[in-house]
Amino acid sequence: EIRVRFAPSPTGYLHLGGLRTALYNFFFARKHSGKFILRIEDTDQSRVVEDASKQLYNDLVWSGIVIDEGPNIGGSYGPYVQSERIDLYREQVKTLLNNNTAYYCFCTSKRLELLRKEAVRTRQTPKYDNRCRYLNKDEVSKRLKNGESYCIRFKLSPDIQEFHDLIYGHISYDVTLIEGDPIIMKTEGFPTYHFANVVDDHFMKISHVLRGIEWQVSTTKHLMMYRAFGWDPPVYGHLPLLLNADGTKLSKRQGDIQISHYKNTGILSQALVNFITSSGGGFDKDLVRNVKPKCYSMDELIQQFDVSQIKASSGKLKPDRLEEFNRLDIQRLLQNPNEELVLIEQLRKLIRDAVLAKNADATLMTETSYIRGILTWAIDRITKVSDLISKDFMFLWIMPNYDNDLGVEHQQILSKTYRILINEAKLNDWSKDNISDVLRTTAKEIDFPYNRLMKLLRNVLSGLKEGPSVAEMMLILGKENTIHRLKVYLE
Ligand code: GLU
Repeated sequence: EIRVRFAPSPTGYLHLGGLRTALYNFFFARKHSGKFILRIEDTDQSRVVEDASKQLYNDLVWSGIVIDEGPNIGGSYGPYVQSERIDLYREQVKTLLNNNTAYYCFCTSKRLELLRKEAVRTRQTPKYDNRCRYLNKDEVSKRLKNGESYCIRFKLSPDIQEFHDLIYGHISYDVTLIEGDPIIMKTEGFPTYHFANVVDDHFMKISHVLRGIEWQVSTTKHLMMYRAFGWDPPVYGHLPLLLNADGTKLSKRQGDIQISHYKNTGILSQALVNFITSSGGGFDKDLVRNVKPKCYSMDELIQQFDVSQIKASSGKLKPDRLEEFNRLDIQRLLQNPNEELVLIEQLRKLIRDAVLAKNADATLMTETSYIRGILTWAIDRITKVSDLISKDFMFLWIMPNYDNDLGVEHQQILSKTYRILINEAKLNDWSKDNISDVLRTTAKEIDFPYNRLMKLLRNVLSGLKEGPSVAEMMLILGKENTIHRLKVYLE
């Protein structure tokens, strides 16, 4: 069975790079009818950000990822939070101590600091010199009995240097050149990332590990641990970096790479998913979107996903594509009756929030069919649904604040216009061309300059000085609303 996991550390919020890793794991799982597992790696308690786990979960769900097993969901291999699995790690480390692939280390932080300084002074890579590896058994027992504080280290061996990476192919790396034996259990009895990660991947029966390229240097180390335990390792694949368009690194510190930022600024989840996965490959040929971007549904992406198509070179985000994807996504949603309703509901909520904050008794025009009409009309004019609650569009949802001191002459002109419009049988055809025609003939009939009439009508209908043509405004407001606004104005 294919089982993959996304294993974030809750030391910050989910950002674009993290979401991409999660998405590729999810696509892979779904494509092969496998399971997607969420595991929270919080063994470094000092760096845990309080609400990060909860946010991570919300962001993943928002993005459309369906988690099969995880902290809020459960599953047969839980708990899915590492800090709740400490007993397991303490138990498992005994196996390695007993078979002599791990050892107690009593080196003080002072000694380690001296080693480090010496390495810097002699321009060498600072690394632990593995001194405690060679302590004899009796000495170890004695020091343990004396209550000396210790950590547990894993013995690196130079004979595992190679592995096959699903994305990068053959990888060869001698970790012993760079590192001394790594700590796997810290002095206070907590595991380090490497150890907990290996133990959990094994006990959670993970078949494939797809993770960021920054972990590739650790993989041979992880493979050594699998061998020390006598376990079969998963298949590893590392995902190249996701970069800014100019080739610079996406920084975790930049607030605007956090998922919540996009969510809060009106980007639709599927647009963001397409944006993140449109550079860097990973899909069949027909999904290559270089020529014309298209916003694919989650199911389409899953169908087309092919891990062997992920490029081994860094993917560059094309920021200008995000809004384009969002517009395409609005279009896509409008074509699906169920999703369309969700979109309409979203917009309705935005309108309510925007209006009711200022004017609690306002009457809103937010019927479903009306909102649908506006969205369809607006699709080429907006990139986000929230654009429709900007100042220029508010007249669509609520009676405008017009300049109601137009003078007696204008009152009369408008009232004549009103009488013509309500009686004009020709207006049964509420099309833009026809409305334009009627407006022209009306201006002639009442003998008033067409442009000035338009200015008056625009004010009454929208309170705006600029914007879509009057005929267009009337078209989208609908006949009933148009007549109603004139009527209310004249009362
Ligand atoms: N907790 C690690 C991270 O935050 C997981 C790395 C892995 O997937 O093995 O990236």
